[in-house]
Parts: sequence; C-alpha cells; structure tokens
Amino acid sequence: MPQDSWNGKHITVAGLGVSGLSAARALAGLGASVTVVDGGDSETHREKAALLADEGIAVRLGDAETLPEGTELVVTSPGWKPSSPLFAAAAAKGVDVVGDVEIAWRLRGPDAAPWLAITGTNGKTTTTQMLASILEAAGLRTAAVGNIGTPIVDVVLEGDDAYDVFAVELSSYQLHWAPSLRAHSGAVLNLAPDHLDWHGSMEAYAADKGRIYEGNQVACVYNVADKATEDLVREADVEEGCRAIGFTLGTPGPSELGVVDGILVDRAFVENRQKNAQELAEVSDVNPPAPHNIANALAAAALARAFGVEPQAVREGLRNFTPDAHRIAHVADVDGVAYVDDSKATNTHATQASLAAYESIVWIAGGLAKGATFDELVTGAAKRLRGVVLIGQDRALIREALERHAPEVPVVDLERTDTGAMSAAVQEAARLARPGDTVLMAPACASMDMFTNYNKRGEAFAAAVRELGATSV
Ligand code: ADP
Repeated sequence: MPQDSWNGKHITVAGLGVSGLSAARALAGLGASVTVVDGGDSETHREKAALLADEGIAVRLGDAETLPEGTELVVTSPGWKPSSPLFAAAAAKGVDVVGDVEIAWRLRGPDAAPWLAITGTNGKTTTTQMLASILEAAGLRTAAVGNIGTPIVDVVLEGDDAYDVFAVELSSYQLHWAPSLRAHSGAVLNLAPDHLDWHGSMEAYAADKGRIYEGNQVACVYNVADKATEDLVREADVEEGCRAIGFTLGTPGPSELGVVDGILVDRAFVENRQKNAQELAEVSDVNPPAPHNIANALAAAALARAFGVEPQAVREGLRNFTPDAHRIAHVADVDGVAYVDDSKATNTHATQASLAAYESIVWIAGGLAKGATFDELVTGAAKRLRGVVLIGQDRALIREALERHAPEVPVVDLERTDTGAMSAAVQEAARLARPGDTVLMAPACASMDMFTNYNKRGEAFAAAVRELGATSV
C-alpha cells in the first residue's frame, strides 16, 4: 500500500502503549486522521493524551469498547485479546483490525529490505539477536526488530535504502494481527502451551505461530525435535521453490542443519546435499553452549544461510554474540559451586531447557505459576536434582509435584515472599549444594508476586550470590 494512500484515512488505534503510540504517530505523520482509545483514565493516561493532542492525534480515555464514528481501520496493540468488545464492534461494521507489524509491512516501499522472521514459545529474542549478529558479521546493514528494540514501524519509515535485511522477532499476538505479512524466510523454534487465555486454545495458538511461514520465499525453518513445528510448515501456503529446512541437535539429514562431533554443520545450503556437509562453527562458539541455545544458533544459522550468508560469517556472528542478562547467566563460582541466573525462565518449557543443561542441580523455583502444572518438568529433571528451594506465591504447586515424582529430593520451602527472601533462598541453596553442583535459579514462574519483573528477580539473585561469596572463606 503506497504511503500516500493513508492520507485522510480514519484510523482508530487501540491502546496507549509503546507500539500503539508509534503506529499512531507514524500514521498521523502520513496524513491519517488518528484517534487513540484506551480504557484507562489515570493521570499518566491524561499526560500522554495531552502530548498527543499537541501532535494532532485525538485520544479518547475511559472507553475501550465503542468504535469511534467513521473508523475505517483499527490498529491494535498486541496485548488486546481478540475477544475485546472494540473488535466485535469493528467486525459488525466490516472494519479490519490489524497490529503494528501489519502496518509496518504495509508501509514498506517496493525495494524494502526482506524480513527473516522468528517465532516460538521460547528463544525468540536470543535467536533474533544471534541472527542479527551473523548478518552484521556478513557486512549487511541490519537490525533486530519486532518484539524487541525500536518499534518496527519507526524502523521501516527510515526508508527502503537504510537496511539490507531485518531480523524480526514476532510474538504469537503480533502474528495473529499481521494477515498480509510474507517473510523471505521464517522459523518456529518450538511450541509449548503459553498465552492460551489470549488465544483461546492450543490449536489457535499454534495456528497463529504458523502464520510466520505464509508466503515464505526461500526457507521454512522448523525444529526436527518438535513435530508440531514441522506440521505447521506442511500446512503453510508458500512461494514456489521455498524449502522446508530442519534443525536438529543430532546428525543432520539432507536439508537439515545439525551437530556432528561438536561441529555445527549445514546439509541444506550446500551443493549435492545427499553427500556434502559444510562446517559452520563449533559448539564452543555458541554462548552459552547449552543444548537449547545450540538449537537457537542452528535456527539463526539456517535463516542466515537461506539469505546467502557465508559460513565464516555464521561462525563470527555466533562468537560476537552475548546473550541478554538473566538468560542462563553465570554469576559466580563460590566454594566450587556454580551459580546461574535464568530468571527469564518464566514458564516450564524454558525451565525444562535450562534444567537439561546441568548434571547436578540445586534448583531455585517458584513465583506466579500462571495456570501451569509442574509434573512433567519435575519428572524429567528428578534424577539431576540435588535439592530444591521454593519461593513465591504458587510454590505449593511445585512442592506437590516434587512430592509425587521426586519424594527423595530434599526441598526447602521458604514461606516469606518479601524481596529479602532471595538472599535466604541462595543461602539455603548453598547449604544443599556440593562442589561441582550448579545452583540454578530458573523459576518456571512469573516474578510479579515478589519483584517488579524478572530483571529485578535476577538482580536480587546475583546480589545474594555476591553476598555469599563475600562471606565464604
Ligand atoms: P523469548 O523471546 O521467546 O521469551 P528468550 O530468548 O528471551 O526467549 O529466552 C526466554 C527463556 O527461554 C530463557 O529462560 C531461556 O533460557 C529459555 N530458552 C531460550 N531458548 C530456548 C529454547 N530454544 N527452548 C527452550 N527454552 C529456551
């Protein structure tokens, strides 16, 4: 859609959040008549509204339900549920509802940079950043955008000439609201139940994730170990010649990337893939070299190779990459015990991956369970647990799963939920641990019962470990 066709269009933006504001400003800048609606009506809301009014953008506060008169398109923020009354009102009038990613897609010019897109229940941010690092190492002008970094609409508006290619992280919400997106290549890293209250069912969640493959031109990248991702490729309608490319922690078959004797190898983007394989990097080039993260690196490599990046740049990009804080971050060794902060493990699927990365673990877990169950997680990890320290509001759910599946594992149940509880948890963990063990804070729960967010929880853990280091002799 050419940019001048937005002129005079009546657009309602749902939500005064970051992506909503960026879309509102971009569209108003192109001459659209924009109204932002939000159910809140607090001091902060009013301050934001006053700023927007100065820019010629109307704001309606305290009513998130009725559709403003004359609306031709609704642009929603990702958090709004599909069942929101505003969208029912739009549907009743035949008005489309889309998200900021769709707007960004429609705002691209004819020579815009292609998108290499990534989704999955866990590992999106890490993989997108790895991909951007590889693309940079290849000398390409790129940015990691979408669910991270600068709002995608703003980046696209920098013009077709500013970038060669984008590494795009997409959440299931964003995919749901981006019907015409057609990425150069797409990857679904894994699929586990998450955000089901938003999507309504696992099927609906999977279908939204699967939208990333629609219209792919070169490669649909899937996880060989997660059949649901391969099924999504099969169901997708792609451009002719687009290939299904698997990634695996095992030996790769033809059209797959995998691992052989500690080497990441490509048997997809090589000549004569029945016989040949191309070395890309070593497992030790991946930071940290935990199994799930090697899988992330393979997925990033597959997308980069689909875009024509040389093997040497894959190696260099992986070496240059450092993960964001609180994702399996090694904090310190104290008395021969390693302390690892995986505070970002806010669901059981993420925690399962980090528990699989260590041999003998004292596990610190608990917080807000968000409706999760812990039986499978505990059963899978039972043999590697030296002990468990439980914190937070829903810790009884994990304790009960431990009683059922790992009754021999010692458990310390910390009743206190004040922020100082983390210090106590680390001290209890230190008591349980033996030299060679890892104390792993991968809570499988959200943090908001005790902390502002997972960053603060991770910082509290690191501070407690430093305290411990200072007092140990
Ligand atoms: P997302 O952007 O999807 O939330 P992140 O890269 O921020 O993903 O990682 C979130 C959490 O998931 C971290 O705790 C991390 O250790 C874990 N994780 C990362 N990659 C994977 C993966 N491939 N499978 C399972 N868990 C993963």
